[in-house]
Amino acid sequence: MSNIYLEVNLHNLYYNLTKLKNELSNKTMVMGVVKGNAYGHGSIQIAKALCNDVDYLGVGVLDEAIELRDNNITSPIFLMGPTNDFETVYNYNITIGVCSFTQLEELIKWTNENNKNIKYHIKVETGMNRFGIEYEQLDQVVKLIGNSRYTKLEGIYSHFATTYKNNKKYVIDQKTRFDKFVNFFSSQYNNLIYHIANSENTIDYKESHYNMVRLGNALYGPCNSKKQIGLKKIANIKAKIIYTKDVKAGESIGYGNSYKSKKNMILGIVPIGFYCGMGLIKKPIGSKFFPTIIYYLKELYRYLFRSKTVIYYKGKPLEILGRPNMQYTIVDLSLILKEQKEQNDIEVDIKISPIFIKEHIKRTYISEVKG
Ligand SMILES: *Cc1c(COP(=O)(O)O)cnc(C)c1O
Repeated sequence: MSNIYLEVNLHNLYYNLTKLKNELSNKTMVMGVVKGNAYGHGSIQIAKALCNDVDYLGVGVLDEAIELRDNNITSPIFLMGPTNDFETVYNYNITIGVCSFTQLEELIKWTNENNKNIKYHIKVETGMNRFGIEYEQLDQVVKLIGNSRYTKLEGIYSHFATTYKNNKKYVIDQKTRFDKFVNFFSSQYNNLIYHIANSENTIDYKESHYNMVRLGNALYGPCNSKKQIGLKKIANIKAKIIYTKDVKAGESIGYGNSYKSKKNMILGIVPIGFYCGMGLIKKPIGSKFFPTIIYYLKELYRYLFRSKTVIYYKGKPLEILGRPNMQYTIVDLSLILKEQKEQNDIEVDIKISPIFIKEHIKRTYISEVKG
């Protein structure tokens, strides 16, 4: 057994999926989003766990879809981001999101030339301003689709830029724009799947469900919705203390003399460092002035009043001494050990998001069986 691993509880994954489905009408379909290595939880195992209980698995880039197919996942996969590698898309039987007019042209050209059908949904621009076809392009879009002999338009989708909780007005405006697209397409084509909602808006804004919702972070734990529906965290990072050591008061600990012991202490070495994700923080990049200032004020608040550690022993916080290193972090064990022991079996919990946990760290799964 390695001395650090991410333990994923699939019971809790099913529990969260059930809770989320309780928020939906029974006609609403579910896409389980497993992009980004299933938000760090391991895309293959999560996809296998989910695939019988969701209508689509959602990925962000083509390589993620290929990885799932290469691991014998045969259920419908939806690629949310753009690609023009239609050969691979066809060979791997992937449904794609068409994110621009040019991509739609290329797709139809390729499928016409190759006499092949690729199922696709058109992404429409409603306010995220990342990918999506504009309303003004729709007449041309219909003409293009009219020229396609093999491809099949299956749905229309868009993506919310914010949450109902944080900016109700913007979300409602986006929905209003989406409705214009929905009206247009439903007057032209029958039985399309319309979808726009992510996790938070699925929970807080029922009007955004349409025919399908795309659930990502809420599957993996509590999310930032206004309404709390009792979602459970599905993963814990666990590590064994790999070495313990006594130090006397007044000694320097770690790189850069970043900590000086104030008393006699027992140190423990935890096998996680910034190479594994420890000490990485979300920081505003390219933000405007005020959001940046607010971020630093929040950090200051957290520094002054909140726990400074992410390492816990049976719920007790362990102080981190000095800076995390590449692969190790030093903690104070004085509170939990009376004397230094050479051989011990102390397991700690590390509370950082699995998204930051590098893929070389083993994921283990509780309760594989289902389906
Ligand atoms: C990531 C993503 C989702 C899932 O978002 P969550 O907020 O994690 O539920 C849905 N749709 C698209 C297009 C995405 O990129």
